[in-house]
Amino acid sequence: MKTEHNLPPHANPCCGHVTDASSDIEDLDLDKMAMPDVGDIAVCLNCGAILVYIDPERNVTRYAHRIEIETLPRATRHKLSVMQKFIHKRGWIPREARKRDGN
Ligand SMILES: [Zn+2]
Repeated sequence: MKTEHNLPPHANPCCGHVTDASSDIEDLDLDKMAMPDVGDIAVCLNCGAILVYIDPERNVTRYAHRIEIETLPRATRHKLSVMQKFIHKRGWIPREARKRDGN
């Protein structure tokens, strides 16, 4: 489980889950931090929504537009799909676990 943070805490627009870290989906080492750029894709680890960074310095995202998802490389879309299936199968992160992880 990730314990370091590379972004200021901010609530995702989808479900209000507060995030404070990001990883590079193209790098299989998910514990490695990656500073996002404007337009980079993010997945909400609580509800699986696909988001886009609009202000990485403040950790602000918005919902991704369908065209933004459709124009991603096939391998990236596959990874997003696998992540979403896992998140949906697992369900929302219990509030107690969020507190324990510092979220
Ligand atoms: Zn969410």
